Amino acid sequence: MAQGTLYIVSAPSGAGKSSLIQALLKTQPLYDTQVSISHTTRGVRPGEAHGEHYFFVSKSEFETMIATDDFLEHAEVFGNYYGTSRAAIEQVLATGVDVFLDIDWQGAQQIRQKMPAARSIFVLPPSTEELDRRLRGRGQDSEEVIARRMQQAVAEMSHYAEYDYLIVNDDFDLALSDLKTIIRAERLRMGRQKSRHDALISKLLAV
Ligand code: GDP
Ligand code: ADP
Ligand code: 5GP
Repeated sequence: MAQGTLYIVSAPSGAGKSSLIQALLKTQPLYDTQVSISHTTRGVRPGEAHGEHYFFVSKSEFETMIATDDFLEHAEVFGNYYGTSRAAIEQVLATGVDVFLDIDWQGAQQIRQKMPAARSIFVLPPSTEELDRRLRGRGQDSEEVIARRMQQAVAEMSHYAEYDYLIVNDDFDLALSDLKTIIRAERLRMGRQKSRHDALISKLLAV
Protein backbone atom coordinates (compact mmCIF):
# COMPACT_ATOMS: atom_id res chain seq x y z
CA MET A 1 0.00 0.00 0.00
CA ALA A 2 1.25 3.53 -0.80
CA GLN A 3 2.09 5.77 2.16
CA GLY A 4 -0.37 8.53 2.96
CA THR A 5 0.69 12.12 2.29
CA LEU A 6 1.66 14.34 5.18
CA TYR A 7 0.24 17.87 4.82
CA ILE A 8 1.52 20.84 6.76
CA VAL A 9 -0.91 23.76 7.05
CA SER A 10 0.30 27.09 8.49
CA ALA A 11 -1.24 30.54 8.72
CA PRO A 12 -1.28 33.48 11.07
CA SER A 13 -3.62 32.82 13.98
CA GLY A 14 -7.19 33.61 12.92
CA ALA A 15 -6.69 33.13 9.17
CA GLY A 16 -8.98 30.10 9.29
CA LYS A 17 -6.70 27.08 9.02
CA SER A 18 -8.42 25.08 11.77
CA SER A 19 -11.86 25.81 10.26
CA LEU A 20 -10.65 24.76 6.81
CA ILE A 21 -9.11 21.52 8.08
CA GLN A 22 -12.22 20.67 10.14
CA ALA A 23 -14.50 21.36 7.16
CA LEU A 24 -12.29 19.24 4.95
CA LEU A 25 -12.39 16.31 7.39
CA LYS A 26 -16.19 16.34 7.35
CA THR A 27 -16.13 15.60 3.62
CA GLN A 28 -13.58 12.77 3.83
CA PRO A 29 -13.83 9.32 5.38
CA LEU A 30 -11.56 8.61 8.38
CA TYR A 31 -9.69 5.94 6.44
CA ASP A 32 -8.63 8.65 3.95
CA THR A 33 -7.80 11.72 6.00
CA GLN A 34 -7.00 12.53 9.62
CA VAL A 35 -5.67 15.48 11.53
CA SER A 36 -2.81 15.10 13.96
CA ILE A 37 -3.66 16.15 17.50
CA SER A 38 -0.79 18.18 18.92
CA HIS A 39 0.39 18.41 22.51
CA THR A 40 0.38 21.90 24.00
CA THR A 41 1.06 23.65 27.29
CA ARG A 42 -1.44 26.46 26.61
CA GLY A 43 -4.65 26.68 28.62
CA VAL A 44 -7.84 24.99 27.43
CA ARG A 45 -10.28 27.34 25.62
CA PRO A 46 -14.00 27.10 26.26
CA GLY A 47 -15.33 24.29 24.10
CA GLU A 48 -11.99 22.52 23.70
CA ALA A 49 -11.54 18.96 24.92
CA HIS A 50 -8.41 17.02 25.89
CA GLY A 51 -7.55 14.51 23.16
CA GLU A 52 -9.86 16.17 20.67
CA HIS A 53 -8.37 19.60 19.92
CA TYR A 54 -5.09 19.07 21.73
CA PHE A 55 -3.51 16.93 24.39
CA PHE A 56 -3.19 19.57 27.11
CA VAL A 57 -0.13 18.89 29.22
CA SER A 58 1.96 20.70 31.84
CA LYS A 59 5.30 22.27 31.00
CA SER A 60 7.16 19.54 32.87
CA GLU A 61 5.25 16.75 31.07
CA PHE A 62 6.10 18.44 27.78
CA GLU A 63 9.78 18.71 28.70
CA THR A 64 9.87 15.02 29.60
CA MET A 65 8.44 14.21 26.17
CA ILE A 66 11.16 16.33 24.54
CA ALA A 67 13.83 14.51 26.54
CA THR A 68 12.49 11.08 25.50
CA ASP A 69 12.40 12.17 21.83
CA ASP A 70 8.63 11.73 21.53
CA PHE A 71 8.21 14.70 19.19
CA LEU A 72 8.68 14.79 15.43
CA GLU A 73 8.80 18.56 15.86
CA HIS A 74 8.09 21.02 18.61
CA ALA A 75 8.23 24.78 18.95
CA GLU A 76 7.43 27.62 21.27
CA VAL A 77 4.56 29.67 19.86
CA PHE A 78 3.03 32.70 21.66
CA GLY A 79 4.86 31.72 24.85
CA ASN A 80 3.57 28.13 24.97
CA TYR A 81 5.02 24.84 23.78
CA TYR A 82 3.36 22.99 20.91
CA GLY A 83 4.49 19.67 19.47
CA THR A 84 3.59 16.86 17.10
CA SER A 85 4.12 13.40 18.56
CA ARG A 86 5.99 10.95 16.39
CA ALA A 87 3.87 7.87 17.20
CA ALA A 88 0.61 9.34 15.93
CA ILE A 89 2.01 10.36 12.55
CA GLU A 90 4.23 7.54 11.39
CA GLN A 91 1.79 4.71 12.17
CA VAL A 92 -1.13 6.43 10.49
CA LEU A 93 0.78 7.39 7.31
CA ALA A 94 1.90 3.77 6.97
CA THR A 95 -1.75 2.68 6.63
CA GLY A 96 -2.18 4.96 3.59
CA VAL A 97 -4.11 7.71 5.39
CA ASP A 98 -3.32 11.37 4.61
CA VAL A 99 -2.44 13.28 7.78
CA PHE A 100 -2.83 17.04 8.36
CA LEU A 101 -0.61 19.03 10.69
CA ASP A 102 -1.86 22.43 11.83
CA ILE A 103 1.52 23.82 12.89
CA ASP A 104 3.52 27.03 12.77
CA TRP A 105 6.41 27.88 10.41
CA GLN A 106 9.09 26.64 12.84
CA GLY A 107 7.43 23.22 13.01
CA ALA A 108 7.01 23.25 9.23
CA GLN A 109 10.76 23.74 8.75
CA GLN A 110 11.53 20.81 11.06
CA ILE A 111 9.06 18.50 9.29
CA ARG A 112 10.37 19.39 5.81
CA GLN A 113 13.86 18.40 6.95
CA LYS A 114 12.75 15.09 8.42
CA MET A 115 10.06 14.17 5.92
CA PRO A 116 10.86 15.65 2.50
CA ALA A 117 7.76 14.02 0.96
CA ALA A 118 5.50 16.26 3.06
CA ARG A 119 3.43 18.86 1.19
CA SER A 120 2.94 22.27 2.72
CA ILE A 121 0.13 24.78 2.39
CA PHE A 122 0.08 28.38 3.61
CA VAL A 123 -3.23 30.16 4.31
CA LEU A 124 -3.41 33.96 4.12
CA PRO A 125 -6.29 36.17 5.31
CA PRO A 126 -7.75 38.61 2.76
CA SER A 127 -6.59 41.64 4.83
CA THR A 128 -5.12 42.64 8.17
CA GLU A 129 -8.46 44.16 9.24
CA GLU A 130 -10.27 40.91 8.48
CA LEU A 131 -7.66 38.90 10.41
CA ASP A 132 -8.26 41.11 13.43
CA ARG A 133 -12.04 40.75 13.01
CA ARG A 134 -11.81 36.95 12.86
CA LEU A 135 -9.60 36.70 15.93
CA ARG A 136 -12.10 38.81 17.84
CA GLY A 137 -15.11 37.08 16.29
CA ARG A 138 -13.85 33.71 17.50
CA GLY A 139 -14.40 35.15 20.95
CA GLN A 140 -12.01 32.79 22.69
CA ASP A 141 -8.95 34.86 23.47
CA SER A 142 -8.35 37.78 25.79
CA GLU A 143 -7.51 41.26 24.46
CA GLU A 144 -3.88 40.72 25.44
CA VAL A 145 -3.67 37.37 23.61
CA ILE A 146 -5.31 38.87 20.51
CA ALA A 147 -2.87 41.79 20.47
CA ARG A 148 0.06 39.39 20.76
CA ARG A 149 -1.24 37.18 17.95
CA MET A 150 -1.80 40.19 15.66
CA GLN A 151 1.75 41.31 16.39
CA GLN A 152 3.07 37.86 15.48
CA ALA A 153 1.00 37.62 12.29
CA VAL A 154 3.52 39.40 10.07
CA ALA A 155 6.35 37.21 11.38
CA GLU A 156 4.34 34.06 10.55
CA MET A 157 3.26 35.38 7.13
CA SER A 158 6.82 36.33 6.17
CA HIS A 159 7.46 32.56 5.71
CA TYR A 160 4.72 32.02 3.12
CA ALA A 161 7.14 31.44 0.21
CA GLU A 162 8.65 28.37 1.91
CA TYR A 163 5.39 26.47 1.24
CA ASP A 164 4.32 24.44 -1.83
CA TYR A 165 0.81 25.93 -2.03
CA LEU A 166 -0.83 29.22 -1.13
CA ILE A 167 -4.54 29.70 -0.36
CA VAL A 168 -6.17 33.08 0.35
CA ASN A 169 -9.07 32.44 2.70
CA ASP A 170 -11.49 35.19 1.66
CA ASP A 171 -14.61 33.30 0.61
CA PHE A 172 -14.59 30.20 2.83
CA ASP A 173 -16.19 27.81 0.32
CA LEU A 174 -13.74 28.82 -2.36
CA ALA A 175 -10.79 28.34 -0.01
CA LEU A 176 -12.15 24.92 0.99
CA SER A 177 -12.50 23.98 -2.64
CA ASP A 178 -8.87 25.04 -3.24
CA LEU A 179 -7.77 22.82 -0.36
CA LYS A 180 -9.72 19.85 -1.75
CA THR A 181 -8.21 20.44 -5.19
CA ILE A 182 -4.68 20.27 -3.78
CA ILE A 183 -5.42 16.95 -2.09
CA ARG A 184 -7.14 15.56 -5.16
CA ALA A 185 -4.16 16.48 -7.35
CA GLU A 186 -1.70 14.95 -4.88
CA ARG A 187 -3.72 11.72 -4.86
CA LEU A 188 -3.52 11.59 -8.66
CA ARG A 189 0.28 11.65 -8.67
CA MET A 190 1.88 8.66 -10.38
CA GLY A 191 3.30 7.05 -7.23
CA ARG A 192 -0.10 6.90 -5.50
CA GLN A 193 -2.07 5.93 -8.62
CA LYS A 194 0.36 3.20 -9.60
CA SER A 195 -0.14 1.31 -6.38
CA ARG A 196 -3.88 2.02 -6.18
CA HIS A 197 -4.48 0.73 -9.72
CA ASP A 198 -1.87 -1.97 -9.70
CA ALA A 199 -4.27 -4.76 -10.75
CA LEU A 200 -5.84 -2.70 -13.54
CA ILE A 201 -2.47 -1.67 -14.94
CA SER A 202 -1.21 -5.27 -14.96
CA LYS A 203 -4.33 -6.38 -16.84
CA LEU A 204 -4.15 -3.54 -19.37
CA LEU A 205 -0.50 -4.20 -20.12
CA ALA A 206 -0.79 -7.99 -20.34
CA VAL A 207 -0.29 -9.36 -23.86
P1 GDP B 1 -4.74 28.99 16.28
O1 GDP B 1 -4.58 27.72 15.50
O2 GDP B 1 -3.91 30.08 15.79
O3 GDP B 1 -6.14 29.30 16.56
O4 GDP B 1 -4.13 28.78 17.72
P2 GDP B 1 -3.48 27.52 18.47
O5 GDP B 1 -3.26 27.92 19.88
O6 GDP B 1 -4.29 26.31 18.19
O7 GDP B 1 -2.06 27.34 17.84
C1 GDP B 1 -0.96 28.25 18.13
C2 GDP B 1 0.21 28.11 17.16
O8 GDP B 1 0.86 26.92 17.39
C3 GDP B 1 -0.16 28.08 15.68
O9 GDP B 1 0.78 28.80 14.94
C4 GDP B 1 -0.14 26.63 15.32
O10 GDP B 1 0.09 26.43 13.94
C5 GDP B 1 0.99 26.19 16.19
N1 GDP B 1 0.90 24.80 16.49
C6 GDP B 1 -0.15 24.05 16.85
N2 GDP B 1 0.18 22.78 17.01
C7 GDP B 1 1.48 22.72 16.74
C8 GDP B 1 2.43 21.64 16.75
O11 GDP B 1 2.16 20.47 17.02
N3 GDP B 1 3.70 21.95 16.44
C9 GDP B 1 4.08 23.19 16.13
N4 GDP B 1 5.33 23.38 15.82
N5 GDP B 1 3.23 24.22 16.12
C10 GDP B 1 1.94 24.00 16.43
P1 ADP C 1 -6.92 29.61 12.86
O1 ADP C 1 -7.05 28.14 13.09
O2 ADP C 1 -6.12 29.92 11.62
O3 ADP C 1 -6.42 30.38 14.04
P2 ADP C 1 -9.86 29.63 12.84
O4 ADP C 1 -10.16 28.48 11.92
O5 ADP C 1 -10.05 29.45 14.30
O6 ADP C 1 -8.38 30.19 12.54
O7 ADP C 1 -10.72 30.88 12.30
C1 ADP C 1 -10.75 32.10 13.01
C2 ADP C 1 -12.18 32.66 12.95
O8 ADP C 1 -12.47 33.12 11.62
C3 ADP C 1 -13.24 31.62 13.30
O9 ADP C 1 -14.23 32.25 14.11
C4 ADP C 1 -13.79 31.20 11.95
O10 ADP C 1 -15.13 30.80 12.05
C5 ADP C 1 -13.64 32.48 11.11
N1 ADP C 1 -13.39 32.26 9.68
C6 ADP C 1 -12.58 31.33 9.11
N2 ADP C 1 -12.57 31.45 7.76
C7 ADP C 1 -13.43 32.47 7.45
C8 ADP C 1 -13.87 33.09 6.21
N3 ADP C 1 -13.43 32.69 5.01
N4 ADP C 1 -14.73 34.12 6.30
C9 ADP C 1 -15.17 34.54 7.50
N5 ADP C 1 -14.82 34.02 8.69
C10 ADP C 1 -13.95 33.00 8.69
P1 5GP D 1 -3.89 28.00 19.14
O1 5GP D 1 -3.27 28.25 20.45
O2 5GP D 1 -4.66 29.15 18.64
O3 5GP D 1 -4.64 26.68 19.12
O4 5GP D 1 -2.66 27.78 18.09
C1 5GP D 1 -1.73 28.79 17.86
C2 5GP D 1 -0.73 28.37 16.85
O5 5GP D 1 0.01 27.21 17.24
C3 5GP D 1 -1.32 28.05 15.53
O6 5GP D 1 -0.66 28.82 14.55
C4 5GP D 1 -1.06 26.58 15.35
O7 5GP D 1 -0.87 26.27 14.00
C5 5GP D 1 0.21 26.34 16.18
N1 5GP D 1 0.34 25.00 16.57
C6 5GP D 1 -0.61 24.20 17.08
N2 5GP D 1 -0.14 22.98 17.32
C7 5GP D 1 1.16 22.99 16.93
C8 5GP D 1 2.18 21.99 16.95
O8 5GP D 1 2.00 20.84 17.33
N3 5GP D 1 3.38 22.37 16.50
C9 5GP D 1 3.63 23.61 16.04
N4 5GP D 1 4.85 23.88 15.61
N5 5GP D 1 2.71 24.56 16.02
C10 5GP D 1 1.48 24.27 16.47
